[in-house]
Amino acid sequence: MKPEKKLIAAALMSAVSCFAININASAGEQEDALIAKIIEAYGGSLFENLSSVRIQHEFKTAFPGQGYTSGYVEFTPLKQDAQFDLENERASIEGWSANWNFNFNTRTVSIDDDIVAINYASETYQPAAGPDYYTAFGPTIRSSDTLLAYEISNRADTAEHQGTEDYIGRPHEMISFEIPNSPPLMLHVDSESGWISKMTRETPFGALTYQFRDHTTSGGIGYGSNFEFFIGSDVNLLSLNIALTPNRVRDSVFAIDRGIEEEPTRVDTSEMTVDEVADGIHLAGTGNAFTMFADAGDYVIGVGGYAGLGARYDAYKDAVGHDKPLRYQVVTHHHTDHLGGMADALALGAIFVMPSNALANVTTAAGEDIPDDRVQFIDGHLNHGPVEVYDVSTSHAESYALAYVPDANIAFQADHYNGNYVDGPSPAGIGTVTMKQAIDALGLDVDVLLSAHGRKPNPWTDIEAAVTAYNPEPCPRNRAICR
Ligand SMILES: [Zn+2]
Repeated sequence: MKPEKKLIAAALMSAVSCFAININASAGEQEDALIAKIIEAYGGSLFENLSSVRIQHEFKTAFPGQGYTSGYVEFTPLKQDAQFDLENERASIEGWSANWNFNFNTRTVSIDDDIVAINYASETYQPAAGPDYYTAFGPTIRSSDTLLAYEISNRADTAEHQGTEDYIGRPHEMISFEIPNSPPLMLHVDSESGWISKMTRETPFGALTYQFRDHTTSGGIGYGSNFEFFIGSDVNLLSLNIALTPNRVRDSVFAIDRGIEEEPTRVDTSEMTVDEVADGIHLAGTGNAFTMFADAGDYVIGVGGYAGLGARYDAYKDAVGHDKPLRYQVVTHHHTDHLGGMADALALGAIFVMPSNALANVTTAAGEDIPDDRVQFIDGHLNHGPVEVYDVSTSHAESYALAYVPDANIAFQADHYNGNYVDGPSPAGIGTVTMKQAIDALGLDVDVLLSAHGRKPNPWTDIEAAVTAYNPEPCPRNRAICR
């Protein structure tokens, strides 16, 4: 704990006892008194002297809009081992899951001034997607009432009391505060006990709710032994077990494990690109969002509907120098992250070609009902111009629209294989295996596999090599988290 916080906490201890009746306290005093009450609940002087904390968390998790079925979301197991060196503002968060669609065992860890992401299945590391402490570790901080208590006690200057509300039949103090790279956090603090019962955040993804229950202590440090996380009204994480260990995080954690190598160079996707992958077949996109455009003579067929579809179509028209209409937009599957471009497709006048189970999510994403004459369900398979579309079933989705261009031996898929590396294949998942099985079963002659999430036109030999090398072992390095 930082020295100035100790001073504030000590100076405010006397205010705690009269907090409940001190309704005329000036702004600032009320916040400080409430923070002192939180510190007292979470361990008093032990909490003030907390130097590190390890939180081992076992969840069930669901990804709203990302289920195998379109009707509901399936839960998958998730384990997390979070180690925070609070004094030095560094952390290590290991995650593990094994389910019908993917296995992962990864660790995001502070190494000196950097943060790296280790993948134990591929035995590689890369720079973490979040380059700073609060981007990389914020989601875990926000999922721990102990860490939230730590953060607000260090950020008292941003705290604002927002009144009193009843929650689960008890009066709660509402107090907002800020941490970097996040909308303000609103704590719901039990007026009597000082425990944090709930945290809420308003984000571009809607309202997020973090619920903490059944508070207890470990080594004198308090924590909620039950946790749930909601995105809007959908449950996203349900905790099965939480173990908290104070002051035991070791220095040796903040290193890259032996035998883990830096991953190969990735394909650069930082700028919008339009690549001609075959005669009349282009792949346009940037970041992790790509669309295949196929020229059918009088019109264009688009495949892949991530957000930004309109911008990709414009870039494509600029690159090829024509202004043909987007007559058909093939919707790969019902997952909502692949439907961000549906409003663009509707505005462009496209006819939607999709598995029938995607209609509800496509309609929501488009923002209005789509006229019946602009919806085509793939009943087995259909053709438009140079593109054939097959409805297949894989580990990823019960009903999936696989696009194939027989004249060019090109197929387009989303989420089953991403070729990230300039040279050689990327690791396969079970999705890659089941997609290859589906392509083989159809007897398609694929030379190049395109991806909604990558720029690389993947040679089929990469897919074959990746599938051959696929390791289904759910605990690839026999680490403690999954033993
Ligand atoms: Zn998907």
